[in-house]
Amino acid sequence: MVANKPRIVIVGAGIAGLSAAQQLCRAGQGDKFDVVVVEAAPRAGGRVFTSEFAGHRVEMGATWVQGITGSPVYALAHDAGALTEDAGGHLPYERMDGPFPDDRVLTVAEGGDVVDADKVAKPVEELYRGMMDAARAGEAGGGGGGVEEYLRRGLRAYQAARTDGSGSKVKEVEEALLAMHINRERTDTSADALGDLDLAAEGEYRDFPGDHVTIPGGYTRVVEHLVAALPPGTVRLGLRLRRLDWGETPVRLHFADDGAAALIADHVILTVSLGVLKASLGKDAASAAGAIAFDPPLPQFKRDAVSRLGFGVVNKLFVELEAVEPEGGGEEQQLAGAAAPPDFPFLHMAFDGHVAKIPWWMRGTESICPVHAGSSVALAWFAGREAKHLEFLPDDDVVRGVQATLDSFLPATSSSGATSRWRVKRIERSRWAGDPLFVGSYSYVAVGSSGGDLDRMAEPLPRGGVPEADRTPPPLRVLFAGEATHRTHYSTTHAAYLSGVREADRLLQHYP
Ligand SMILES: Cc1cc2nc3c(=O)[nH]c(=O)nc-3n(C[C@H](O)[C@H](O)[C@H](O)COP(=O)(O)OP(=O)(O)OC[C@H]3O[C@@H](n4cnc5c(N)ncnc54)[C@H](O)[C@@H]3O)c2cc1C
Repeated sequence: MVANKPRIVIVGAGIAGLSAAQQLCRAGQGDKFDVVVVEAAPRAGGRVFTSEFAGHRVEMGATWVQGITGSPVYALAHDAGALTEDAGGHLPYERMDGPFPDDRVLTVAEGGDVVDADKVAKPVEELYRGMMDAARAGEAGGGGGGVEEYLRRGLRAYQAARTDGSGSKVKEVEEALLAMHINRERTDTSADALGDLDLAAEGEYRDFPGDHVTIPGGYTRVVEHLVAALPPGTVRLGLRLRRLDWGETPVRLHFADDGAAALIADHVILTVSLGVLKASLGKDAASAAGAIAFDPPLPQFKRDAVSRLGFGVVNKLFVELEAVEPEGGGEEQQLAGAAAPPDFPFLHMAFDGHVAKIPWWMRGTESICPVHAGSSVALAWFAGREAKHLEFLPDDDVVRGVQATLDSFLPATSSSGATSRWRVKRIERSRWAGDPLFVGSYSYVAVGSSGGDLDRMAEPLPRGGVPEADRTPPPLRVLFAGEATHRTHYSTTHAAYLSGVREADRLLQHYP
């Protein structure tokens, strides 16, 4: 033993690392273990990060508590006093009016025609949902071409069976609506393409029951609450693990800052993202900015799970808007199509590709919606290649791309042609892929992986299961927590929380 009580070093002060620390520090009134949390960033919270933009409280990472009944994250937010409307000040916050009901959504086709909700938008949505449910239940059947082609076949069959004589324009809009739903699924799952998802394995995924809610005081309040419950000095910021020597006890942790002394530990709980682990095992690991060197290398079963599981990119783009009078003003101005609402609408966009000024990456989003009804701040979500591309674009290009999109979808006719009555003032965006401390956003079960890989992610090292001659239990040198280690709740904050508690409990059982 490193000291007179077991020393546990937790790597990462996201929700998983902090919940593990809390569980360990609670045990034996904090006297049982020597617990340290090392965090590379100058802040705790990881992929939970509340920020401010244009006078609003916005979440750059996690937004929702996904189901409140039984959710430990909801309980924490409640205990932190962060669920009341004036928590932490009087800023309006992202999604303060909850998930928006369908009847507030305005679906518009490229060029500005409003899509008939009852005759066109809803039937396509129902068709889409039914087909995805069937695919997740393993009932998609053969046919080849992957899940997107399966969806297109379903739409063609629906169109062929229809007898109302809808013309080719309606069919084009329906295809664009299908692409819109696919974009939504991509951001929900973080997969670049639906064909990357193992839909049958995804059937194991569960949210908690009950409403999905946001946190008025900001998600970061949950993080602050967890940190405040730890003994002062437990969390050490600005320490990036660079090398982990785990071949024998004590385990040695070496940090990127040469001035930082190595730490030794009886046990390490590693909570870095699956993206960081992938970067650490990839062929460019030696030069990857956030990579961790493992000595000895991680065993093959762990490497396989890390490389097979999916870890995608999802980014959020916040846009501040102002309403402007169309050029020329006056009585003769006609607000066309969708442009009539006084507030910025909950705009869902059916891109069909005919307006050349709209950049390709804008076509990857499903919607641009005010962060709450009546707000001048709107939010668009992006996944995959569009989300990555967005990270590197100069602000001006992003502003131009969003403006061209609004000019097309919410046009106001004027003497100079179609412009929107909404002008983009400025933007803010997340950059989860380019940040070497995350290298992406959240995990999914990719084709070729399985729920079993999520379990393998959670297995401690050295691997147990082979009884040693003297029946000594495996030494639990490296334990793994984090959202990508939870078989049924992966990709969420509650998965992160539960995984931290799970690994703390594993150590508590090790020292009964
Ligand atoms: C855009 C976006 C939207 C999301 N929306 C939701 C949502 O609505 N609801 C929901 O439940 N979840 C959502 N999530 C997912 C949720 O945020 C994560 O699942 C959860 O926060 C992960 O927590 P974690 O502790 O597992 O990992 P992390 O938060 O990634 O924590 C790991 C920590 O390790 C640190 N670290 C990395 N490398 C090192 C190193 N070498 N040395 C030391 N420290 C290191 C990192 O800085 C980080 O703080 C979203 C995520 C994103 C990005």
